[in-house]
Amino acid sequence: MSDAPVVLITGGSRGIGAAASRLAARQGWRVAVNYAANRQAADAVVAAIVEDGGEAVAIQGDVGKAADIVSMFTAVDRHFGRLDGLVNNAGIVDYPQRVDEMSEERIERMLRVNVTGSILCAAEAIRRMSSRHGGKGGAIVNISSMAAVLGSATQYVDYAASKAAIDTFTVGLAREVAAEGIRVNAIRPGVIETDLHASGGLPDRPRELAPSIPMQRAGTPEEVADAILYLLSPSASYITGAILNVSGGR
Ligand code: NAP
Repeated sequence: MSDAPVVLITGGSRGIGAAASRLAARQGWRVAVNYAANRQAADAVVAAIVEDGGEAVAIQGDVGKAADIVSMFTAVDRHFGRLDGLVNNAGIVDYPQRVDEMSEERIERMLRVNVTGSILCAAEAIRRMSSRHGGKGGAIVNISSMAAVLGSATQYVDYAASKAAIDTFTVGLAREVAAEGIRVNAIRPGVIETDLHASGGLPDRPRELAPSIPMQRAGTPEEVADAILYLLSPSASYITGAILNVSGGR
């Protein structure tokens, strides 16, 4: 039986999460690839990892539903029998709207998926990894956004606020579990070439924003994955509570 470490990557089936899943496997992690709806995309990531000689499993679960989060972690227990890392990557945007146009339903969904989901996933991970609970330690990487700093006026201030909550959650949780063998860090991606922009109704956003980015281009999911895997790795053993911008200077 393999004794390789295990990481659960929420939203590991597309975009940044898929790049992180593939890189994690190449760096020796066994990977739980979570997805919400698109089973085919998750299966394709798992198949690519297995073809490369790695080990991965696709696990369905909507992080906007508490019961799904519990069953997702139970599935990880069943499949791998251990957990060493969590990447809280699953996240959503919505169509561009001013705050005075937003419905309560939209705001609640945004906060439920992006904030409550990440906090509940972290809680499940801590129950397995913390020395306080008999665990062997581990690392959590939360995916925030430069929106947390920039505010996303006229596009999705609710999204920006949800990511600012992730920043503060990262700092607080890092201090809370630092003496229990768990490091907690966050990454703020800038504009990254993924399907996220199309799901917010702005498929050309990376190309349109490129001239406003100091490096004059959008980033790739692989460039964010490199930072995620660094923060998960023993190379980052004295780093906790940090928030790393991966944004081309934006
Ligand atoms: P993406 O290409 O839209 O992929 C989203 C992934 O999350 C998919 O695997 C999707 O699975 C999954 N997902 C969505 N809702 C979910 C839910 N409720 N429960 C579980 N999984 C769910 O997004 P991305 O651009 O890679 O974004 C990943 C993270 O980076 C997000 O937190 C996002 O806010 C953050 N980020 C992105 C950018 C950017 O420019 N792309 C910039 C800053 C921050 P299904 O396919 O099954 O729905």
